[in-house]
Amino acid sequence: MKKYMRTTLGRKLAAFYLILFVVSFYFISTFGQRYIYEQVISEAQDSLRAAAITLLSTHINQQSYTKDSIRNLKTQLEMASETSQCRIMIICDDGDMVVDSGKPDPTYNIYLGDSSFLQKQVTRNYTMNGYLREPSLCISLPMERNPYLNGYIVFAQRNSYIQARADYYYNILSGLFYLMAGIVGLAFIGIYFMNFRPLRKLRNGAKDFSIAHENPPIIIKTKDEYGELAQTLNVLGDELNKFEEYQRKFIANISHDFRSPLTSIHGYVQAMADGIIPPENQQKYLNIILFETDRLTKLTSSLLDVNNFDKDNIFLDISKFDIHEAIQNTIDTLEGIAEKKNISFEVTPAQLNPLIVSGDSDKIRQVLYNLIDNAIKFSDRDATIFINTRTRGDKVFVSVKDTGIGIPKEDLNHIWDRFYKTDISRGKDKLGTGLGLSISKEIILAHKQTIDVVSTEGVGSEFVFTLPRE
Ligand code: ADP
Repeated sequence: MKKYMRTTLGRKLAAFYLILFVVSFYFISTFGQRYIYEQVISEAQDSLRAAAITLLSTHINQQSYTKDSIRNLKTQLEMASETSQCRIMIICDDGDMVVDSGKPDPTYNIYLGDSSFLQKQVTRNYTMNGYLREPSLCISLPMERNPYLNGYIVFAQRNSYIQARADYYYNILSGLFYLMAGIVGLAFIGIYFMNFRPLRKLRNGAKDFSIAHENPPIIIKTKDEYGELAQTLNVLGDELNKFEEYQRKFIANISHDFRSPLTSIHGYVQAMADGIIPPENQQKYLNIILFETDRLTKLTSSLLDVNNFDKDNIFLDISKFDIHEAIQNTIDTLEGIAEKKNISFEVTPAQLNPLIVSGDSDKIRQVLYNLIDNAIKFSDRDATIFINTRTRGDKVFVSVKDTGIGIPKEDLNHIWDRFYKTDISRGKDKLGTGLGLSISKEIILAHKQTIDVVSTEGVGSEFVFTLPRE
């Protein structure tokens, strides 16, 4: 896998670089070369023309030359030919070549061949019908101002000279290209190493992520995308770790909560079957068995609830109902348990006019039941439980307050977790499953409302949830 990734990333970059290199090389060696040649030849054209015009205006057109006297210009022509790196010829109207910087004594008549190039001014790749040894760029200009001698001045520059200049520029371009290719190649290698290390760390880290393992953090300290990705993965790893911990606790709790009532049921039934418990005492133990089966039933139905809530959306049967009536009904249901501890209720406002809210009335009753049931469970004898409703804006706040044992600070964040019970409550409330508040919270959140608690150990607790007012 390690090797696979290295070759893949490396190969991809290498292939990309190679393609880039070949394509650029192709363009430079074809179009680039052609372009340079075109530029050089048109530059040569311009400079030869300019030189020809200068020669015409400074020497030839200044004086009246005859066919013979113009031969005296040979020295000037030779000098000009050297500066312009070309051959300069003067051809008379009758076609006679009178001066040629490249030949001491020319005896050639242009009309023996094709003379049309003289009128064209610019002719490329031309040998003047074999007069020149090498194909050349020929520039011809008429000598118009001379009264006695009409003819043309011809500047011819060898193709090989032009090509050499083009090659010179092309070589510079190629040199630059190879230099650039080297720099880009180094940049690619840099990119490869810069990416490979963090990528490998991320890949190895992510590969090890699993619910079954501890997920150690991936350490990438750079403040770039890799650093961010590593942080995101670390958060994910933490979540997985927490989830694993949660899952472990969840199973441990379920097993524990099922096992203890089953053990006691099993023990008492066994004792009765063995005749260890005399019939007159059996009623007491049957009551314990009944209590334990109640607990198992409650646990099972809570688990089913939790399971249903897990399936993402809780199906809510939203309707309008009177929250005061729901509170009163719940108190009535719990009256029996409350009476046993001589606990009373104080509901405010005292005048309970209907207060209509919208929500799933059965589920909200379940929340009320859980909260009031807890308040009773965790209050001392003769206590009072305060239930209050108040409205603010379009919300109704329902509060259930007791003066019971309270919740230790360190437990406050956990009481909403499934199966969570504080240590003090474990002793006091054997029937509790630790699921009531988590179910209540899910119900309230499904209504897109909030539920909160304020509690002080030894002083009491107040649970407040909201509902949309109608
Ligand atoms: P249970 O069914 O065990 O009551 P809950 O989810 O309703 O489960 O409550 C979780 C834990 O929160 C309880 O075991 C208890 O420790 C704490 N708790 C809930 N309500 C109160 C309260 N009114 N006073 C003190 N502790 C409370």
